[in-house]
Amino acid sequence: MSLRLPRLITMLLATGVTLLLAAILFSSLPARAATERLDYPSNDGWHYTTRPSPASTGRVVELYVDRDFNEYERQHLLSAMRQWNYVLNGFVQFRARMLPDDPNPMTISQIRRSGAWVVARVDSRHPVAHSGEGRAALAVTTGNRGGFVYVISDRIGNRDLTGVIMHEFGHVLGAGHDGSGLMAPVYSAAMGRCIDQEAVALVARAQRLPINQLNWCEGPGVSPNLPMARATYSDYRTPMAARQR
Ligand SMILES: [Zn+2]
Repeated sequence: MSLRLPRLITMLLATGVTLLLAAILFSSLPARAATERLDYPSNDGWHYTTRPSPASTGRVVELYVDRDFNEYERQHLLSAMRQWNYVLNGFVQFRARMLPDDPNPMTISQIRRSGAWVVARVDSRHPVAHSGEGRAALAVTTGNRGGFVYVISDRIGNRDLTGVIMHEFGHVLGAGHDGSGLMAPVYSAAMGRCIDQEAVALVARAQRLPINQLNWCEGPGVSPNLPMARATYSDYRTPMAARQR
């Protein structure tokens, strides 16, 4: 008995700390994330453009994040949100909160009806991982003005979760698939490293946003006003992991 109690306390404390951390993480996103400097790793020459943000704040896309995501995964979710918020420059903005504990189907349907998105952590036993292109997917996004982003956690392996989630958030924002870059249908670490001009253009078209007031990432040798060179990326493709849809 004497051994069990301290262990229980430790466990409770650990859980409490994790929840608290998550609460801080998801509440600490500044209202104007667009004005935040992106701490993007630029040691390989990739960087985000820095167009000024307009004065008014645009539409908010609400995300309800599954409590099953661990701390590491939450950091990647946050990074994906931050990068989209940055490139969208205040015109559209993701805001995340934790999904209620044990949400009942009623809560979920209310969330969807409100136009919000549930970001759910599932594994490959989940039905979504067994139907259609979900069979080979790392993540699946379903819905239109509200829906689900399923992250199939046991298929992510050592892939960059931030890139996978940024791709899915592109779908949430109305982008379809593109031949290259972040919105290519097949995952690659190189193409998913940041939100490129083509991905931003797809979202701008879907959301009717002025592309010349948005940001995107640029790589070494890529001219700001030219489409990304497609050939450069084709070598990085790994046909193993069709991402979704
Ligand atoms: Zn996709």
